[in-house]
Amino acid sequence: MGLATAYSISNTDDSKILLLDRYGIGNDYCSSNDVNRVFRYSYGNDEHYTRMAVESLKLWKNLEKESGQELLLPTGLLMLQGEDRDANGFNEASYRTLSRLKLGAEELEAEEIEDRFPQFRAEKGFFDPHGGALLASKALYALNSLTEKHGVMVRKGQATRLLLGDHPCRNRCWRDCTISQTSSDDWALVQHSPKSKTNIDVVDPTTARLPQTPE
Ligand SMILES: Cc1cc2nc3c(=O)[nH]c(=O)nc-3n(C[C@H](O)[C@H](O)[C@H](O)COP(=O)(O)OP(=O)(O)OC[C@H]3O[C@@H](n4cnc5c(N)ncnc54)[C@H](O)[C@@H]3O)c2cc1C
Repeated sequence: MGLATAYSISNTDDSKILLLDRYGIGNDYCSSNDVNRVFRYSYGNDEHYTRMAVESLKLWKNLEKESGQELLLPTGLLMLQGEDRDANGFNEASYRTLSRLKLGAEELEAEEIEDRFPQFRAEKGFFDPHGGALLASKALYALNSLTEKHGVMVRKGQATRLLLGDHPCRNRCWRDCTISQTSSDDWALVQHSPKSKTNIDVVDPTTARLPQTPE
């Protein structure tokens, strides 16, 4: 999420951006570093998530285009009725949401499921043509190389407090602020003048210190 945010800002803004991750990008502890993740429009009654997924599909396609790599395998997603009542309720709500938003979900009866997906048996289900398999680690590395290409500084470092919430510059546009390394192990919040890219004034290095995680 942090990497995607840095990438997105670097696409639209020429602010200096520093991205800190305490264990580095694609580390063994983060939840986004894995072979794949399911991409789906189906979020039950949560239409807001469905709308966000629709928006994010465009962003995934843009990222594929810019990186020249296939990151989202457009397999579609088959949601089948089973014995779990909660899961069945979620599937039915998802189908209703996708239908209401005219997102091309196809309701399937047992016979059609057997016909089109002979490896499965179910009384009913639905097919979301926009679902897919996201190649998660590959996407992380694609994002990492693009953000660096866009000038984002990516460093190992640990944020110990949220600076913008209680900092004197909190009323300013957050894009005017950046974090800068003042010595080998200190990071400080600086105010970046929108008028001049070189005019950087340290606002409050004492409260804005961010100790790095040792290598
Ligand atoms: C087993 C599993 C299966 C999943 N399946 C799916 C799925 O199929 N489809 C789906 O959409 N979602 C799925 N999810 C959820 C999805 O993976 C997560 O929502 C997503 O990866 C979260 O990304 P993130 O960037 O917020 O967090 P992360 O990828 O965990 O990244 C957080 C980063 O912040 C760094 N960090 C933490 N604290 C600090 C600090 N103080 N200073 C500096 N850096 C710090 C960490 O080192 C880490 O690299 C699944 C999750 C799991 C665990």
